[in-house]
Amino acid sequence: MIEVQALTFQYPGRPPIFSQFNWSVAAGEAWAILGPSGYGKSTLLYLLAGLRAPTSGTVRIEAQTITRPRPRTGLILQDFGLLPWATCAENVSLGLRVHGFYGPDGKHAPLDARPGDVQVRTEHWLRRLGLWAVRGHYPAQLSGGQRQRAAIARTLALNPDLLLMDEPFASLDAPTRESLQNLTLELRAEQHLTTIVVTHSIEEAACLGRKILLCGPRIEVLNNPGAGDPAYREAPAYAAMIQTLRGRLALAAEAGA
Ligand code: ADP
Ligand code: MG
Repeated sequence: MIEVQALTFQYPGRPPIFSQFNWSVAAGEAWAILGPSGYGKSTLLYLLAGLRAPTSGTVRIEAQTITRPRPRTGLILQDFGLLPWATCAENVSLGLRVHGFYGPDGKHAPLDARPGDVQVRTEHWLRRLGLWAVRGHYPAQLSGGQRQRAAIARTLALNPDLLLMDEPFASLDAPTRESLQNLTLELRAEQHLTTIVVTHSIEEAACLGRKILLCGPRIEVLNNPGAGDPAYREAPAYAAMIQTLRGRLALAAEAGA
């Protein structure tokens, strides 16, 4: 699904963050990108999203070279990005309404986006994410978990095939974070999504990433095949993976110091 080839990226006047980096992600895979801050995790996600352009090399998704955002890529950020003056339901339908107006190419409105469709899909996603009862609330009246679920509903209403998340649950309390991690696992399976979650939390990487891209002085890939099942959190293999990741991050910190 994603082919990153010989990717080099640097911000102007700064040393390269990625240099001749190659990476591939198959359709339906669940990745976590883990690493200390400052090692380019967000930058890599923005490159995949088409919000930044490589200095050299290419990012291809479904065989198309990415030069700008792609309609079927969903992006979810830590600060939710909800409009404060719109209700929960209006926020969830926002992407659909914009999409219906401009179309996926930004010019031609699609024939299938009839107004009824927006309502049906908005209702479906509000119900699926447990937001139906609070659909008339404004973001300030929602809890952090509800706000992030609204942001997820808005993104999934657009029927993405790839979901990119940048530290999506970092500001939530532990039980809410765990329930949204489980929800992410369910939605991934249910919607046949390819998911890439950036995190600096070792536990989050171990429970969401069947493959883990460790960003540090060197980039490394670890396999974590048990992830995806909420019961994995209780498994000995999970505890072992956390130990391994701790060790790797400590090495990265030493090498970076
Ligand atoms: P991470 O998400 O892993 O914390 P980032 O991708 O945000 O890392 O940043 C990687 C490096 O690039 C950091 O050293 C950061 O300071 C730098 N950086 C990020 N954004 C910019 C920018 N717009 N201009 C210049 N440097 C930047
Ligand atoms: Mg970041």
